[in-house]
Amino acid sequence: MNFEKSQRIKRLPPYLFVELDRKKAQIQAKGVDVIDLGIGDPDLPTPDFVVDAMAKAIRKPKNHRYPSSQGSLSFRKAATTFLRRRFGLEPDPETQVCACIGSKEAIAHFPIAFVEPEDIVLVPSPGYPVYHIGTLFCGGISYFMPLLEDNSFLPDLSAIPQDVAEKARIIWLNYPNNPTSACATKEFFQEVVEFAKANQIIVCHDAAYSEMCFDGYKAPSFLETPGAMDIGIEFHSLSKTYNMTGWRIGFATGNPELIGALKQVKSNVDSGQFEAVEEAAAAALESDQSFVATMQEIYTKRRNVLVDGLLSLGIKAHRPKATFYVWIKVPKGYTSSSFSTLLLEKAGIVCTPGNGFGEPGEGYVRMALTVSEERLSEAVERLRGVL
Ligand code: PLP
Repeated sequence: MNFEKSQRIKRLPPYLFVELDRKKAQIQAKGVDVIDLGIGDPDLPTPDFVVDAMAKAIRKPKNHRYPSSQGSLSFRKAATTFLRRRFGLEPDPETQVCACIGSKEAIAHFPIAFVEPEDIVLVPSPGYPVYHIGTLFCGGISYFMPLLEDNSFLPDLSAIPQDVAEKARIIWLNYPNNPTSACATKEFFQEVVEFAKANQIIVCHDAAYSEMCFDGYKAPSFLETPGAMDIGIEFHSLSKTYNMTGWRIGFATGNPELIGALKQVKSNVDSGQFEAVEEAAAAALESDQSFVATMQEIYTKRRNVLVDGLLSLGIKAHRPKATFYVWIKVPKGYTSSSFSTLLLEKAGIVCTPGNGFGEPGEGYVRMALTVSEERLSEAVERLRGVL
């Protein structure tokens, strides 16, 4: 039997968090009390009102049948309500919203509709790995746009060679950004619309962290930008906003042709999400969002504990106004890898080496605010002992 894998699988980089989990398990096996600031998975539970909605929904026999692959109309209407209240958007729930099995699923599948082998996809680097992986699965070629501190971690669109821009089918953007925690300005989004229209490029905006904002900041939707609906699709996730990573629910919204294409792919690949999950998710989206405000307060306090602690150690850390990530320049003499190895082996702290998100992330590590203030203080004290 020939189990030779396809080129698209052979070309895959090792999935970052699988490697991290392996290293963490090795250290834990030695009896170390590990403080895990690695993966961005909220430590706090899903709100009770969402769990209660699920408990009711699971008892309804209509939810036991095959779901709609684009999501129930009531879920899509709830997404529309959320988008209207939060961003002033008015997408048509019939044609401009599609549920997804976590935004990762749609981010990975969407390119199937538009990317031919050898087509170029513009991918931010450092960035969430799935933009590149989705490109590879289509036989496409990622052109990496470096996100550099000098340019506020925004891609420099004017640095993209004209022949690359002309061949590109999709540009991926993600603000508030993982891993740099940078935020985009409305002016930058306007520049993206003009660039995309001039070069006939589809804009895919990943808005997974749109609700995780602090200090009164409210992240804009890319689709608020004039002209964005003509060329754009935006991916939303309930995972981080409502502590629902395990539930696998999100949605895409935007231009009807782009949403239609995503639905076409999905109807041929999956049969949608369990509609009981969609009912519970609709309760979250239609709620008064006070839960989100409570989470924002918790993360603000955690952020301050970690950033103040790091600054007191002379470590350069940005105080992010969004996302639950702190993007940290490693001290002089270290690389992303040597610093994260030092933290793991000498302090029992897991963080993510910045170069794991792409080469321009070299020289940084990412820490996630997914443990309590007490554990973050302890992490700072352990670091004090090591440095
Ligand atoms: N986009 C970004 C930037 C992320 O960091 C993540 C998860 O970490 C996702 C998308 C996927 O979220 P989900 O599939 O849970 O909706």
